[in-house]
Amino acid sequence: MQVPFVDLQAQYRAIQDEVNPAIQQVLNQCNFILGKPVDEFEQEFASFVNTKYGVGLSSGLDALRLALEAMDVGAGDEVILPANTYIATALGVSAVGATPVLVDCHPRTYEIDVDLIEAAITPRTKVLMPVHLTGQAADMDAIMCIARKHGLRVVEDAAQAHGTLCNGQPVGSIGDIGCFSFYPGKNLGAYGDAGMTVTNDPLLAERMKRLRNYGQRVKYEHIEKGLNARLDTIQAAVLRVKLRHLPEWNRKRLEHADQYQELLTGVGDIVVQGRASYSTHIYHLYIIETSQRDELQKHLNAKGIQTGIHYPIPIHLQQAYADLHYARGAFPVAEYLADKMLSLPMSPELSVEQITYVTEEIKAFFAAR
Ligand SMILES: *Cc1c(COP(=O)(O)O)cnc(C)c1O
Repeated sequence: MQVPFVDLQAQYRAIQDEVNPAIQQVLNQCNFILGKPVDEFEQEFASFVNTKYGVGLSSGLDALRLALEAMDVGAGDEVILPANTYIATALGVSAVGATPVLVDCHPRTYEIDVDLIEAAITPRTKVLMPVHLTGQAADMDAIMCIARKHGLRVVEDAAQAHGTLCNGQPVGSIGDIGCFSFYPGKNLGAYGDAGMTVTNDPLLAERMKRLRNYGQRVKYEHIEKGLNARLDTIQAAVLRVKLRHLPEWNRKRLEHADQYQELLTGVGDIVVQGRASYSTHIYHLYIIETSQRDELQKHLNAKGIQTGIHYPIPIHLQQAYADLHYARGAFPVAEYLADKMLSLPMSPELSVEQITYVTEEIKAFFAAR
């Protein structure tokens, strides 16, 4: 049996009768740049996460970058983010000339450890940038409380959490701006690169729309230096179709996670990611910890089971961030998890048989030790 990490082909086969005509319509109209589907998807996705405005962008990284730029965050400013995240979170900060300041993560939920945030705040801190990692929320109640106390703004990196609820509120709608990625492998993925920012603030929304389009107010009148960071019409057309399926897909991921959890209880030295009491979980990733991670990964690979590591090198140990001068040992939880975490296959298309096969192979691995 083969078990891919995510099965994008199976998903495409299931929805091709909806997605092909949507793409064909864009081809017929040739409205490739900021066509009507972009507007429509912005409204539909904003309403899905319960915000007033959505700004369609070319990637999740551009979303993080434009969110900060719209708040005039730049050189000399500091932005606080978790040490355990995809590097794009930090790159969004660096792209505007600001400095990423890292905070360790919670050992059970893997989300930013809110008890460590205040110690990282300095007079230069402008923004808290929590990440809703793996599909579960960072502790936004605590984060908003700290932000209010210190007069900071909050940008949520919700690139892995399309539809996650934190105390009943969709993530992305809680801080000043929420940032989403629609990279193909995300829970809501385009057929290429795409992203979006969401907000309830009309001025921030207007500024981000300007910044994504060369800083222009009206055609050929540029009131600031912007980027070309627009969401493609073809991608918007694909995403409109896929958004209709997202709640069902997220439900299936949760079912698969429940099944993994049940079958893996008590196997070897496996610890599964803890669920935060304040959050739902849409399982962008299904992560286990084991001291024999590398050997287990090799065993599963030999059995046709694809796994991943999210992420093998924390931000502070990346060569790209040597200039931050963090030492090994600076963020012990993030470093521990980088050595122990393994992401098992997870997608809505996963079958009960595949999950059973994966867990049987994990049991066989530990039984032979
Ligand atoms: C995927 C991801 C991003 C970047 O999104 P892109 O669309 O690939 O640029 C940012 N942050 C996190 C946490 C991500 O998982």
